[in-house]
Amino acid sequence: MDYFLGIDIGGTFVKGIVIDNNGKLLCEGSVPSGCAEGGDKLCLNILSLCNRLESEARVKPAAAGVACAGMISDSGDVLFAGNLFLKNFPLKEKLTNLLQIPVTVVNDANAAAYGEAVFGAGKNFSDSVFITLGTGVGGGIIIGGKLFTGGKGAGAEIGHTVIVHGGKKCTCGRKGCFEAYSSATALIRDTRTAMQNNLSSRLWLCGGLDKVTGKTAFDFAETDEAAKDVVNAYVYNLACGIINLANVFRPQVIILGGGVAEQGESLIAPLQKRLDAKIFGGQEYAPVKIVKASLGNLAGALGAAACRINDSSVKG
Ligand SMILES: [Zn+2]
Repeated sequence: MDYFLGIDIGGTFVKGIVIDNNGKLLCEGSVPSGCAEGGDKLCLNILSLCNRLESEARVKPAAAGVACAGMISDSGDVLFAGNLFLKNFPLKEKLTNLLQIPVTVVNDANAAAYGEAVFGAGKNFSDSVFITLGTGVGGGIIIGGKLFTGGKGAGAEIGHTVIVHGGKKCTCGRKGCFEAYSSATALIRDTRTAMQNNLSSRLWLCGGLDKVTGKTAFDFAETDEAAKDVVNAYVYNLACGIINLANVFRPQVIILGGGVAEQGESLIAPLQKRLDAKIFGGQEYAPVKIVKASLGNLAGALGAAACRINDSSVKG
């Protein structure tokens, strides 16, 4: 039996796990990332986490998979990760030296997609598309059981495909991106706008504009027209992005993760209905099912470790 470390670097915490090559979880833990103090400090924090996990699991891992936000080069450098304050940082090289085992660095959304594909909601399917609905809209694409990351690993940026031509401004510089309508950030923005336009809306019962979350509009959708309108518009736009992905990749499953996906069936049922009605050629021949991610916040660490276990990637 071989053992693997899975590490997921977040802006605040680094999560770590040890699994065996069947995916059995031996232990998990976390450490503050300390990214603001620089990449070297981050690597030392990861080393201390890995030492702790190794002694707890009482095994010697053969290799480590590391999930990290941002653009990752083929050689494992973090070219740019704004939230982690990293730019052109040789993460793979530094961690290989510190941990003294082989290290693979993967983009975090791709790692989560692969984790769900191998161990989670996509495990019975060869083709899946994973969509995270969080601060932004991230994604990962699995084709024939392998991760498709595109040229230089820079592909699968599904959040930056336009769904409303000339629409709302996106952080990437384009207008009308999927992310500008379907992220939790966008949902919060639209909920606040609805409140400001409807001063008698029950949405105000959440406690005020600064208390709005990605959950608020869903909480009041049954009892308040303005909230219902926000949810309906959100579902309409998210469905548009999902139908585009379904028509391009025709996966067996589309897996929704991130905070907004916690709505479960009240989000998935209307999305599935719209997908069924609009997918090219109809659903009978090659149905696409929308499901909720099942690994929670361990998806990235599990996927990164799985990338070490399997030959994971399809290059663009
Ligand atoms: Zn964009």
